[in-house]
Amino acid sequence: MKLANDYKKILKTLGFNLAKQQPKHIKRQEGNPLQISSITEERKHKILENTGVIISPRNKEHRQKYFAGLKPYKFLLSLIDENLTSDKNILFEGIAKSFVAEFTKSIDLICNIYQAEQIPEIYGIVPNQLNDNGKRSYITTGVSCMQGKVKRFFDVYKDTQDLQLITLEDKDGNLYGRALLWSDRHNHNPVSTITYKDDTNEVEKIDTKIEKKFYLDRIYIADALCGTDKIKAVYQAKVFNFVCEVLGVDSVPCYSSKHLANIKSVNVDKGSRVPTDFYPLIRGEALDYDFYPYCDTFQGLDGATWYEDGDECEVKLTETDGQNANATGCNCEDCGDRVHEDEIYFAEQDEQYLCENCCTFSEYEDQYINNNYIREHRSTGDIMHEDNL
Ligand SMILES: [Zn+2]
Repeated sequence: MKLANDYKKILKTLGFNLAKQQPKHIKRQEGNPLQISSITEERKHKILENTGVIISPRNKEHRQKYFAGLKPYKFLLSLIDENLTSDKNILFEGIAKSFVAEFTKSIDLICNIYQAEQIPEIYGIVPNQLNDNGKRSYITTGVSCMQGKVKRFFDVYKDTQDLQLITLEDKDGNLYGRALLWSDRHNHNPVSTITYKDDTNEVEKIDTKIEKKFYLDRIYIADALCGTDKIKAVYQAKVFNFVCEVLGVDSVPCYSSKHLANIKSVNVDKGSRVPTDFYPLIRGEALDYDFYPYCDTFQGLDGATWYEDGDECEVKLTETDGQNANATGCNCEDCGDRVHEDEIYFAEQDEQYLCENCCTFSEYEDQYINNNYIREHRSTGDIMHEDNL
């Protein structure tokens, strides 16, 4: 690998002691392009002694079984052998930073587009591990708190009309970036409406061409890939331009537009807000899901629609543990139903919190009573607790 050799020379020129055992057969690791595969002469000998295996750098199994797979920083560190003084440490850190940037820059990435049904699968990929599907996600929980969460958190995405996910992947399908592409509910309205002319009662067809509205949500890029904000923006621009191309438009409103504004190749409006009157549509019932994702942009669900501001919604998506933030955790102690905190009643005598179906207010006793313990006073008809008869 030329890059590794170039940096070895740089380290030597700048006065670093090179390690006696230098890594050999240096290659980008197959299946994990953010790591470097190599082996030292010493290790080759040891393997021969212990197992009789003659290491071949072209043998895939040998690569997997016997070679070291190092992150670029660790790899660079393995080239030298000395205790770094603080001056030299600063120098090394600088060299390492530029090595990591150059190493990651050359990874070939492509954009892909996925439909709503596939979204839970992609969010479910656990960061930095080889997953069931043989792919890795480099989007760590440090970048997006939702990556790697259980799939059922994202059922609500599956049911969102025309929601799409744009990804940044390498040729093996490993994930380096992603962004939700929201579609306004009116995108699918009929293009014409029928009205009656006032004076003649004559039917007139008016074409109301409805402009399609989209919103590109925050573009997440793997930390391991970027290092700096500037490099990150270059990758974000790749996703942004891909979306414009797919939609056949010059530009699209985007959450990450502030980052993108400094990149020349994108045509982005500086505003990052969702367009007015933009509400994606849920095909299911918003309250029927057992779990919900945390959301940056559309933080609320009201019946069948997504809302930007979560405060006025039935379901507020500001929790990372799959909960609805509006559900305050009040459960009726008799039937177990979950109810809003304003609709729970304290039955003093039995010290129970109850829902409206499980208790009745007694004017006579001035307290709520669990329906199971209610008795009627034989002569007055007043409702009483059975213990007070
Ligand atoms: Zn109840």
